[in-house]
Amino acid sequence: MPDSKKHILAIGGHVGDVENTAGLLLTKYAMAGHRTSIVHMTAGEKGHPPGRDHREYREQRLREAEASAKIFGASECLVLDHPDGELHVNEATVHEMCDLIRRLRPDIVLTHWRGSFHRDHRNTHEIVMEGGFLAALPGIVRRDPAHLIKGLYFCENWEDMEGYEPNLWVDVSEAFETWERGCREHQLLRGEISFKYLDYYAALARKRGCEVGVPHAVTVSLPPVSRKRRVDWLPVDTEPVLIF
Ligand SMILES: [Zn+2]
Repeated sequence: MPDSKKHILAIGGHVGDVENTAGLLLTKYAMAGHRTSIVHMTAGEKGHPPGRDHREYREQRLREAEASAKIFGASECLVLDHPDGELHVNEATVHEMCDLIRRLRPDIVLTHWRGSFHRDHRNTHEIVMEGGFLAALPGIVRRDPAHLIKGLYFCENWEDMEGYEPNLWVDVSEAFETWERGCREHQLLRGEISFKYLDYYAALARKRGCEVGVPHAVTVSLPPVSRKRRVDWLPVDTEPVLIF
């Protein structure tokens, strides 16, 4: 557990992405008294069930996002109004992200890894990287003062696995039940529309847990530039990843 209270912000391409991939971590941090926030770049309204109108489905997704965020213990949940499937990396979206980061001032940001087959996920990654970069520069004058994100991590998402390299395993066992209850607020995550999301992510948390000898775990990837660590001697207190 960190030595002081932190603010963790998770940013996903569609409602559902954060819940699936960062929800366990957010719940763990909230249970330990840290502040957590969620930003959904789009409502993911185009993945509507057959016969439903995407505008009406958007309203449902907003309600579901709010309900699960409440269960996770998040203090803020924003759904931006970019259309699903049409999220672009441009000056407007990068400045929007810069302003959001400066307003929310998170210590840690969780988002998509860049190697995704979904364009909205790749673009969310780029927008966070570029917006986060601008947010840290005092010379970029916006309404709020500069803010440097000190911990940036990419979550394990089945749609973003191209080149994804898990670097840290986090024990989230204490958060599992609450997280599962939060995910059940979403028709999509319950597996009633397409992919069996909750089945997949619950099984993944168990699998990652087995790898480090705990009931449930999640992995995150570090930005490649941050994987480099200077040490004077090789560590000998590192637990083996596989327990035999
Ligand atoms: Zn998505």
